[in-house]
Amino acid sequence: MADTQPIAAVQEQTNFDVLIIGAGISGIGEAYHLQQQCPNKSYCILEMKDTFGGTWETHKYPGIRSDSDLYTFGYRFKPWTGVPIASAEAILEYMGEVIEENAIDQHIRYGHRITRCSWSSDANQWVVQATRTADGAELTFTCNFLWMCQGYYDHENPNIPNWAGMDRYQGQLVHAQLWDPDTDYSGKKVLVIGSGATAATVIPEFAKQGEHVTMLQRSPTYFFCSENRNELADRLRKIGIDEPTIHRVVRAQILYDQDVLTERCKTEPDAVFEELKGLIRRYAGEDFAFEPHFTPRYRPWQQRLAFCPDGDVFQAAAAGKLTVVTDTIDTFTETGVRTTSGEELEADLICVCTGFHLAVMGNIPFDVDGQAVDWHDTVNYRGMMFTGVPNLAWVFGYFRASWTLRVDLLGDFVCGLLNHMDDIGARRVEVALRDEDAGMDILPWIEEDNFNPSYLMRDIDKMPQRGAKPEWRHNQDYRVEKDEIPATDLEAPEFVYDGIRATEPPKQAKSA
Ligand SMILES: Cc1cc2nc3c(=O)[nH]c(=O)nc-3n(C[C@H](O)[C@H](O)[C@H](O)COP(=O)(O)OP(=O)(O)OC[C@H]3O[C@@H](n4cnc5c(N)ncnc54)[C@H](O)[C@@H]3O)c2cc1C
Repeated sequence: MADTQPIAAVQEQTNFDVLIIGAGISGIGEAYHLQQQCPNKSYCILEMKDTFGGTWETHKYPGIRSDSDLYTFGYRFKPWTGVPIASAEAILEYMGEVIEENAIDQHIRYGHRITRCSWSSDANQWVVQATRTADGAELTFTCNFLWMCQGYYDHENPNIPNWAGMDRYQGQLVHAQLWDPDTDYSGKKVLVIGSGATAATVIPEFAKQGEHVTMLQRSPTYFFCSENRNELADRLRKIGIDEPTIHRVVRAQILYDQDVLTERCKTEPDAVFEELKGLIRRYAGEDFAFEPHFTPRYRPWQQRLAFCPDGDVFQAAAAGKLTVVTDTIDTFTETGVRTTSGEELEADLICVCTGFHLAVMGNIPFDVDGQAVDWHDTVNYRGMMFTGVPNLAWVFGYFRASWTLRVDLLGDFVCGLLNHMDDIGARRVEVALRDEDAGMDILPWIEEDNFNPSYLMRDIDKMPQRGAKPEWRHNQDYRVEKDEIPATDLEAPEFVYDGIRATEPPKQAKSA
């Protein structure tokens, strides 16, 4: 069994059945599923950082926490027992336990940055080039199947718009993604640029110790305020229900509630907005003014709702510690920012919360039999496999629901696919458009009307494309996918094994 190999042997080995790229919540989750469901496969996780955690290790800004509840952001196989909205520290602790309890650590090689992935149809293998960050050594790994768990954004280069006059600013300017936890903001006037989930996280923290916080937003965001506790979980715990059952039941309840909310955001967005306002008023007071800074121009859930545990952002506003300005930046000045409408915003510290750059497949160059892969030339199969690229799956989670729900789903799917390949003796699998797909519209990755955050829209032309049929799109709908993906017929014509469509007779039989 793969997980009983001695550590030294695994660390020296360079050829594996499966290589997982990235030791974030996706990579660790998929390693677990692989060990459980394909115990005879050898595997290794290659991770460029010196530790696991991905997103939860990269971001160190004040208050860093999830904005999903951990009953659904946690894996289905490991109960979550803490408060629903969890700190990065608690998430890392949880992941650390998964690694330890399942002896995944002996399969991880940290400090290995993947620099190229090349598929060879002759050898039916991926050749993966990596730089060992400790000494710059160039290493080569090979595998039959490549499981891309490298996330969806550039961990090292956040999105910092090129604003006029930035070099004039004499205070401290930092992007949240590059925040140094030793930064002292006590007694400072802080300007937060942006109004998404990151801004919603840092504002209450800055408000606690800083003199005052100003949030400068281009446009308003929806906020969802709630206590950071789950009543059902608390009740089940109180009557002595075991944690695995609590995890399962609370997960189901949260998913049900989210489905209802998502649907209502489409069918009755105004009513939902009124309810969101009601929740805000609990913390900000009955007279809180929603115009102009808290009335978004899109309907709820077209972009992530920014979660406020215990209404913390609005508690800061009610305490007079937060000012909101809705405007654009004309220029930075020596002391802060001048807005387009001429307002001077003074700040000792500016925290830029303008998000990240999308990175398709970690911006790693790929080729198939010597031909460079342009991901935009491929069509995605349920957001996980891509036409023309064999033996590869990408874990791209959900935006509206917890990302990790898809980690479990794809874990089952990919393990099922690998086992199926073993059963039929195939070494190569790819997805290909079928005869019935001739003339199908080929469209951008996601409908703009479905989900349209700016980082995705900015670089949508780098993403794989989508077909107008359910198989050829990542619909971002867990409710549908939780039934559809497990029910996949691996012998359906969109699957091509060793160059032969699943529904065609084997080549030998044809020529006989
Ligand atoms: C600040 C922030 C908060 C978020 N909060 C939530 C939330 O509450 N709920 C939710 O559902 N989603 C959230 N998301 C989305 C979030 O990114 C995912 O939920 C999830 O953590 C992604 O996990 P991942 O393992 O797929 O990718 P990542 O966490 O991005 O991890 C990818 C790993 O791959 C490694 N890697 C990348 N490129 C290479 C390479 N070339 N070679 C080797 N290793 C490489 C990286 O170092 C990293 O460790 C948030 C995102 C951000 C940025």
